[in-house]
Amino acid sequence: MGIVDEDVARVRESTDMVALVSQYTQLRRVGQRWVGLCPFHAEKSPSFSVNATEGLYHCFGCKASGDAITFVREIEHLDFVDAVEHLAAKASISLRYTERGGGEERKRREHLHEVLERALEWYHERLRSAPDAARARSYLRSRGFDSEEVARYRIGWAPEGWDELTRALRLGRKDLEDTGLGMLNRRNRLQDFFRGRVLFPIHDERGRPIGFGGRRLPDGEGPKYQNSRDNVLYHKSRALYGLDRAKAEVVSENEVIICEGYTDVIGFDRAGIHRAVATCGTALTEDHVRMLSRFTRRILLAYDADEAGQSAAERTYAWEKAHDVGFWVVDLPGGADPDELAAEDPAALAAAVESARPFVEFRVQRALASGDLDNPEGRARAATAALEVIAPHHDDLVVDQYLMSLADSTRIDVDRLRERLVDIRRQPTPEPNEHARSGDPGPRDPGPTDPVIDHAPGDPGTSLPPGSGPEASGAPGVFAPMPHGAEREAIRLAVNRPDLAATAMGPELFEDPTCRAALELLVSTGSLAEAVAQGPPELAEELSRLSVEDVVVEPTDVLGRLATEAARVELAELERAARASEDPLEYSSAISYLKVTIEEVRRHGAGSEIVWELVDWLRSSRA
Ligand code: ZN
Repeated sequence: MGIVDEDVARVRESTDMVALVSQYTQLRRVGQRWVGLCPFHAEKSPSFSVNATEGLYHCFGCKASGDAITFVREIEHLDFVDAVEHLAAKASISLRYTERGGGEERKRREHLHEVLERALEWYHERLRSAPDAARARSYLRSRGFDSEEVARYRIGWAPEGWDELTRALRLGRKDLEDTGLGMLNRRNRLQDFFRGRVLFPIHDERGRPIGFGGRRLPDGEGPKYQNSRDNVLYHKSRALYGLDRAKAEVVSENEVIICEGYTDVIGFDRAGIHRAVATCGTALTEDHVRMLSRFTRRILLAYDADEAGQSAAERTYAWEKAHDVGFWVVDLPGGADPDELAAEDPAALAAAVESARPFVEFRVQRALASGDLDNPEGRARAATAALEVIAPHHDDLVVDQYLMSLADSTRIDVDRLRERLVDIRRQPTPEPNEHARSGDPGPRDPGPTDPVIDHAPGDPGTSLPPGSGPEASGAPGVFAPMPHGAEREAIRLAVNRPDLAATAMGPELFEDPTCRAALELLVSTGSLAEAVAQGPPELAEELSRLSVEDVVVEPTDVLGRLATEAARVELAELERAARASEDPLEYSSAISYLKVTIEEVRRHGAGSEIVWELVDWLRSSRA
């Protein structure tokens, strides 16, 4: 199933690249380009460029590049069709699909989002006005919610009855089950899933409803929280409450705060901190980390991050390495929840965020604090506890720093600590993946692909076996980067002047395979946008990159240099052929023509007619 090419092109053309990118990072105009901090990697000085005319972007830091569709795919984690639909919706373009019935799956998902939206509206209205929601309203008031907040977070009330939602919205079994809103009960009757609960709607990153988190009233029955079960749209290992609203500030502040509860996110909001999200009834998973790493590399944990124990900590180190992110811990005074603290002392909450400490440091200090540092035995025990925290860390430079400060605080010689660390790293740990590291005293990295330790029990494993990831497919390095020089300059000119690419240049003028392929691609597709969309990824990246470089040269200069270089290569080849030939005179007229013409171009400058003549000559003799 796909979208009609013409419609894809229309979407691409109708998208304002600068406006699109500006939702994620601030851009400013520099010459013909727009530049800003890259939304795909953390950086302090801008290396991200946008070419507004062509609708392309390129990052000189992390090499992210492409067009509006790639941008949306990458930043929103969408597949191609989703990304095009996302942009089409913004540009009010209605799409046509290539196979009849091919859009069924997609239509189904759209329909389920709509069902959830209707349910959300119904629950919300119920909370605001129904007499049976009075207790819910007074509970929310007691938690500091006013009606403006109830509206902003679209909080709802699921009544106690068995099937009130099902009947009110006339929902069928399939819709109920696929949205998690209801199910068939043992008496073969359709029944609502949420009953007698205050509901916090959960949205995907694009702001579409995917599920609910339901909190019982203080005197209610059942577990305190009940979330949607995994279904077609909702996967708890990926869902992050509040991400749709938080992502703008996550990008602008380059930091995300993870909490454990919906009301914690709201507490942060109340304290003026709008970059908090909550996991929905599960521990942080690698999928969450992967998704967040698109927005920021700095992840703050605003819950007791040490509670989950050593194996969870090692998992955190492994994610830091695999996804190039860093974890910090927000140490909340007295172990308070963020929402409690927000109500009592919002300034203290903000201060705790400000003074977040690196995850390892936090754990080392906690290990030290639990020991008695007043006597030698106590210091030795504390040192061992701290070393166990440090041992699994993958970065030896980091490990060294902690050893040094540990030596200070425990008054134990750093070399002794280092020996001890090696011992600890050698010890087998009672974990299921122990075999993977036996006999290996090096950094203990559980590895991002180990499904046993990557996912909380019961979570669906999403890790692929080694070798099956996208990086395993396709031959690497088909196109090497373009070498700097006249050929690359010429391709850059071609990128900015497609008219010249088609008329004045020919693939015969290029020696470098990447440059030649790039020119052929530009000429055959007729536009830069199409070349980037259709070409192989390496070429598309090179072209996007060239499109955001400023052109400060005259087209004729570039052509002159390109032709001269090609002429020199041709001359050398002809001379070699002449030497090897039994009839060297056969080559003499071509050789003297090139010698004379190269000299002419040099003397008269690239702007002269003779350049065009040389180009024609080269193209016809090499064709
Ligand atoms: Zn970048």
